[in-house]
Amino acid sequence: MFSKKIVIATLVTAGLFGAAALTLDVDIRVKDSPVATATPPSAEWSPTTGVPKSELDVYYPGSEDLNPDEMRIVALGTGQPSVRPKQASACWLVELGNGDKFLFDVGSGCHERIAAQKIPYDYLDKVFLSHLHVDHYGDLASFWLGGTVMNRLTPLRIWGPTGATPEYGTKYALDLMQKMYVWDVATRMGFVDFRGGVLEVHEFPYDSVNNVIYDENGVVVRSIPAIHTIDGAVSFILEWNGLKFVYGGDTFPNKWYVEHAKGADVAIHECFLPPTLLVTKQGFTPSEGLMVGSQAHSSPEQFGKVMSLVKPRLGVGYHFYNDFDTAPEVRDRVRKTYSGPLALALDYMVFNVTKDDIRVRMSAVDEEIWPSPPLKKKNPPDTSKMIPFSDFIRSGALALPKVVGPIFDEVNEKYGTKIEPTWK
Ligand SMILES: [Zn+2]
Ligand SMILES: [Zn+2]
Repeated sequence: MFSKKIVIATLVTAGLFGAAALTLDVDIRVKDSPVATATPPSAEWSPTTGVPKSELDVYYPGSEDLNPDEMRIVALGTGQPSVRPKQASACWLVELGNGDKFLFDVGSGCHERIAAQKIPYDYLDKVFLSHLHVDHYGDLASFWLGGTVMNRLTPLRIWGPTGATPEYGTKYALDLMQKMYVWDVATRMGFVDFRGGVLEVHEFPYDSVNNVIYDENGVVVRSIPAIHTIDGAVSFILEWNGLKFVYGGDTFPNKWYVEHAKGADVAIHECFLPPTLLVTKQGFTPSEGLMVGSQAHSSPEQFGKVMSLVKPRLGVGYHFYNDFDTAPEVRDRVRKTYSGPLALALDYMVFNVTKDDIRVRMSAVDEEIWPSPPLKKKNPPDTSKMIPFSDFIRSGALALPKVVGPIFDEVNEKYGTKIEPTWK
């Protein structure tokens, strides 16, 4: 007993001293620690608990509470329109100290990164779409319908812009999306609590300037027009508790962003690959490289100039393949026009924002991670919504009662239920 007490006390003490010494070299930390001199190093000595979470240099999703005045931004898609293992397409999660969570864009490939945040789907019910390019909402259907299986029990609310004509607007696109997935919806309605399958679409004018499109629980979101390929793209500004987050989506440099992003704590704006890299790395023609890289999108130099005009506490460039051989050139080009605080985003980059500090880290990426199970109680499915098989398909089923019966017996015995197979 005595030796156990000593070990516990040592761990706690080591944790406390460790907090103060974390920025120092490891050898110095061990040498200066009174614990190190009092207790010889052993397998038991190295502390695994007691290190304050605020000192962790890696973010472990689902492991850190936010302070009431804190905003956490997680980059869940920072790449180009074509996804790749390292970078999904556009998606940004904003979590606030009041418990609210918001997704800005749900581009192709981002759903797995959302799931990896260990947030129950019920808490991810607000999505803002900057425009209707597939790299900004390509995973919406997966997130919407996948969420019903993962027990989202509240409607999924989506805000998106109108277009110049109705068929270019968010409402039209999402009406068609629901039609496109009518078979999928029909298969789920009678089998699971389907309240999370309801879509609430809030369309707002793409050309409104700094008008409020969301105002709940002390959080205000405004939209401003963006300039990107055709009319109908927007940027977003979220304000809460004196903190200001700006998400540009895709846009050519424009006067609305420069005016209304001013005062931002974190200003995110696209920063495409320079045209020369689009040619050499991606096989664009010089003309395509210039048109796509500096006219439909913003090049690093254009991004830098916008940041110089906005002067955010932190400027964040995204929307390019960020690698060891591209980042230095992108950064050099940004620095031609901007000398302020800068982050070039990667998937799983995390920003903890308070009035005093902006801390940037990377997440620990865990391929074994599972989405979070639900926290709320489910209703039984509405079996009246179940669509029966035809006699033809029924005639092909092998009920295998001697195989399936024991499976049902096992569950009924374990959970005290009386469930019977539908196939008999
Ligand atoms: Zn786009
Ligand atoms: Zn894009």
